[in-house]
Amino acid sequence: MSETVMKKICPSCKAEMELSVKSYPMGSAFIKDRFHVDIYRCPVCQKVELFAAESDMVTCPVCGSVHPAHEKCVKCALDSAFDGTYTQVK
Ligand SMILES: [Zn+2]
Ligand SMILES: [Zn+2]
Repeated sequence: MSETVMKKICPSCKAEMELSVKSYPMGSAFIKDRFHVDIYRCPVCQKVELFAAESDMVTCPVCGSVHPAHEKCVKCALDSAFDGTYTQVK
């Protein structure tokens, strides 16, 4: 098999950027569909680039919201926390 991982190249110095933080959640935890980014950093000039983290996103079979595979579904966690107290509003 050939190399399948896309390498991120620094636009400034053409060095290969290193993955610094994977699937970093942008914005508040209370936003239903948070946007996740992979944060890459250039080891030469320290430039930081953000890339949309879509590789390990999964769709929750219960509520249909998209979240990283390694995280629990935030919406379902909130729904269960409020279960019996609030009626879910679509
Ligand atoms: Zn660089
Ligand atoms: Zn869910």
